[in-house]
Amino acid sequence: MSRNIVTFHYTLRDTQGAVIDASTGGEPISFLEGAGQIVEGLEEGLRDLAAGTKAHIGVPATKAYGERDEAQVQRVLKSLLPIEGDIKAGDQFRAGADAYAPIVTVVGVEGDELLLDANHPLAGVDLEFEVEVLAVRPATEDELAHGHAHGAGGCCGGGGKEGGCGGGECSCEDKEGTCDKPDCGCKG
Ligand SMILES: [Zn+2]
Repeated sequence: MSRNIVTFHYTLRDTQGAVIDASTGGEPISFLEGAGQIVEGLEEGLRDLAAGTKAHIGVPATKAYGERDEAQVQRVLKSLLPIEGDIKAGDQFRAGADAYAPIVTVVGVEGDELLLDANHPLAGVDLEFEVEVLAVRPATEDELAHGHAHGAGGCCGGGGKEGGCGGGECSCEDKEGTCDKPDCGCKG
């Protein structure tokens, strides 16, 4: 099966029309098809769209970040957490030191305890994408081997951006030793 590198811009809204995120005005997103780098429903919607196509892609939560799991809301002693200063409901932080650690959201503060929600912030949210496909090209052998898209600067080591190398500003040299992807060539 041949797999493509797809480059696109997007604006992401919730079903009320509020903008959650957008690439427009910044670097477009490039991803390798079939590598699980973007949410499943968005990848399905982008499949077979040619460069130059603008489209609306509605993605139900089940094909995006999943339904909410109330078991992921837990009570934790504030003193056990490596955070300083005032903490209030709505604050978010990573549950670990590395860049891939899950983000947890403070949903309540009760004395010495915090109520932490480890659900993805977009769990249970239906997503509405407006996309513009900028380019579609076959993946190179290197990209297939690494499992991510390469930008103009080659391999970023997978540590630069979600979904692999988005632009030309990063290279293996910059990221050596910081790559979390065991199959990436930057560790070789
Ligand atoms: Zn690579």
